Amino acid sequence: MKKNTAILYICTGKYIIFLKSFYNSAKKYLLKHHNITYFVFTDAPIPKAFKKHNNLIFIPQKQLGWPHDTLNRFDLFYSIREKLEKYDYIYFFNANLRINCEIGDEILPENENQIVVCKHPGYFHKKRQDFPYENNINSAAYVPDNKGEFYFAGGLNGGTSTSYIKLINNLRTAILDDSSRNIIAKWHDESHLNRYVIDHESVKTLSPAYLYPEGAKLPFENKITILNKKYYGGHSLLRNQNKKQYSLKYFKYKTIYLIRNYFSNIF
Ligand code: UDP
Repeated sequence: MKKNTAILYICTGKYIIFLKSFYNSAKKYLLKHHNITYFVFTDAPIPKAFKKHNNLIFIPQKQLGWPHDTLNRFDLFYSIREKLEKYDYIYFFNANLRINCEIGDEILPENENQIVVCKHPGYFHKKRQDFPYENNINSAAYVPDNKGEFYFAGGLNGGTSTSYIKLINNLRTAILDDSSRNIIAKWHDESHLNRYVIDHESVKTLSPAYLYPEGAKLPFENKITILNKKYYGGHSLLRNQNKKQYSLKYFKYKTIYLIRNYFSNIF
């Protein structure tokens, strides 16, 4: 039976550059037998090419500055919770993801209470003591040494709408609680997600095939590529952390981006 899925996507500031390759690849490969609506949080003017797609909903969202653009994500999702309640499933995708092959029902939760998370491609082969869980005991994301089996990435997660809205409410509160005490967890939203998973009774785990860093050599099929930000100017440029060097470098990387897109064969 056709289900309705909401995809949550944030691209504030220069991250708008990733929307085209994400959306076009998702349209081609993601949950093709279901209905999808994309909720895009951005401060960019709606690109002309997207105005014709009626399954895209743009939500104005200003760039908050690093790390708040990623850390405050649950606040953004909370602001549209009433819309989200109407869907069967909700998934969040990081901006710089590109889908390479059909992604179907295998990523969907199997019961009403299930959330779906993806093993971090940098930690799937590491030991528990190497996982970068939050170690500040005062943070709501704190994970004691005797807890945690896997380390999950913040870049792709989802669930039934009931389970994911619970996650949104819970993590939003945890992050607000931290910030009221001037605490920012080490890996931002990802730290809180990992804490949440530990206590959650029903979790579906995806392999790093669904979050495969561009150029890496991992023992998984590359189903979803994490585009390497170095080809788009690098982290600090994309996140606006270094405004001075912005304009010239940005145009250089925008040109590289256009060339990469042109040859990427997916449009
Ligand atoms: N993001 C954004 N604008 C910014 C910084 C981050 O929209 O200026 C969003 C975007 O969805 C991005 C996510 O936050 O994919 C996580 O940030 P980033 O990819 O830089 O962090 P990483 O996943 O590499 O730790």
